[in-house]
Amino acid sequence: MSGTLRVLPLGGLGEIGKNMTVVEYDDRIVVVDTGLRFPTADMMGIDLVLPDFAYLRERADDIEGIVITHGHEDHIGALPFVLRELGQDIPVFGRPLTMAMARSKLDEHKLREVELEDLDPGDKLEIGPFDLELIHMTHSIPDAAAVALTTDLGTMLVTGDYKFDQTPVDGQPGDVTRLAELGREGLLLLCGDSTNADRSGWSPTESAVGPKLEEVFSRCKGRIVVTSFASNIHRVQQVVDAAAACGRKVALVGRSMRKNVNIGRSLGHITFPEGMLVQAREIQDFPDDKLVICSTGSQGEPLSALRRMAHRDHPQVELHAGDTVVFSATPIPGNERAVNETVDRLFHIGCDVVTTRDAPIHASGHGYVEEMKLMLNLVKPRYVMPFHGDFKRIRLHGQLAEAVGISRESVFRGMNGLPLEIDEKGARFAEAEHSGMIFVDGVDIGDVTDVALRDRRMLSADGIFVVVATVSAQDGTSVAEPEVIFRGVPFRDEADRVLDEIRDTVEASLSRAAKDEIREIDLLQEILHTDLAGFVYDRLKRRPMVLPVVVEV
Ligand SMILES: [Zn+2]
Ligand SMILES: [Zn+2]
Repeated sequence: MSGTLRVLPLGGLGEIGKNMTVVEYDDRIVVVDTGLRFPTADMMGIDLVLPDFAYLRERADDIEGIVITHGHEDHIGALPFVLRELGQDIPVFGRPLTMAMARSKLDEHKLREVELEDLDPGDKLEIGPFDLELIHMTHSIPDAAAVALTTDLGTMLVTGDYKFDQTPVDGQPGDVTRLAELGREGLLLLCGDSTNADRSGWSPTESAVGPKLEEVFSRCKGRIVVTSFASNIHRVQQVVDAAAACGRKVALVGRSMRKNVNIGRSLGHITFPEGMLVQAREIQDFPDDKLVICSTGSQGEPLSALRRMAHRDHPQVELHAGDTVVFSATPIPGNERAVNETVDRLFHIGCDVVTTRDAPIHASGHGYVEEMKLMLNLVKPRYVMPFHGDFKRIRLHGQLAEAVGISRESVFRGMNGLPLEIDEKGARFAEAEHSGMIFVDGVDIGDVTDVALRDRRMLSADGIFVVVATVSAQDGTSVAEPEVIFRGVPFRDEADRVLDEIRDTVEASLSRAAKDEIREIDLLQEILHTDLAGFVYDRLKRRPMVLPVVVEV
């Protein structure tokens, strides 16, 4: 007599990001992915968003392990927070690059006791009532895998993120043979990536990007800066190869770019020709037409290397007219504004900017509609539950399943917190469980469910600074001494000095902004907020609420 399989998504459905799924059988649990999401603009002061995993808190002892499909933040980013809360004795499984990235992340959070187990595709591992197997897939990061979990009831497959790239950069296409075998054996449930359910046809192959980059490079006279996701190690490889073909050397800029390339290099996912790398400190003296700088910041992230270059605030790279900046990435939904702002700053400096609208210098890591149909046809699932997508894409993915002949009753369009239960009699949604978001502010994690609560907590713990700055409407310079009001800030008797320093910080930020011709009030307030919050934290080791008010006269 078989039991009941329960598949409970805690994140990733009805949204893009923070993928996390609880799989239960015989009261034992395997968690697939522990991802995060980056905050939207209205989540002021929030650094990260995690899935609310309260459901697992009372069940920590039942967890057999956590399996990570690949090293992207929306699949691995919440791992330190989850383990810190549920216990470092939970083993974590994944492919070597994924585990190396997990290790580096856990080290940063001082979680050194966690057991990380490398698992190669094809290896079968028994954990509790589950047989676990990883299947090699292609995606925009090496070592991506689909996760097959087998119980007495049958096998379920979580695809992770994937595309069917027939000519990947490392020559290792996804394991369609194994997928087809699973289909022949009879797959119980498919939980598939829905990210590109709205794009018809086939996604372009990653290896088509390299020659296009080379074409772009060959037209450039000055220095070239290429920005892409640091974890897209094969893209960085193609940048290196295109640079070499044009007689240029490569410098890596940005912490995560250097970190990921180092990890990728140690595992053999990227190779550099002898003498190809230029150190960051050598960049300024290197001939412009002999250099490609590979940088973080493709999403316009506030503290990224490219954003700092665009604001003329990078310690090693000073951009100038005649340089070309190549965006080998598209903005993730929600980041468009930050990317556009960065692009415009670059134009202001006099750089040329090449984006995916000008040349096909990016390939998505997610399969398009025909690839999703191919997946469905290979594994022939009895039930389908679309994963990884907003409600629109989940609906579209469901329609694709019906289009390839899966009956409507077998397609389950779910949402976070809604468990799908499968037993010998069939499949159905069960009663909803608690799910939601957890906000992370700095390194703190709280079960704060909305921003108002978080604000109250911040006010009660660390107080508030209100800073009123008065700027000239003509040229944006500061025209009066900034006013600083505070309540509830626990100073140790250095209040006067700190207040003076705060005024200096405000003046410095404003004159920098004036020099950069930043006039929009909300942008100024944002800059002041960033600078002041950083300064106050440095000085007081606390995070009071910082409320800058800019008045134009
Ligand atoms: Zn993803
Ligand atoms: Zn991914």
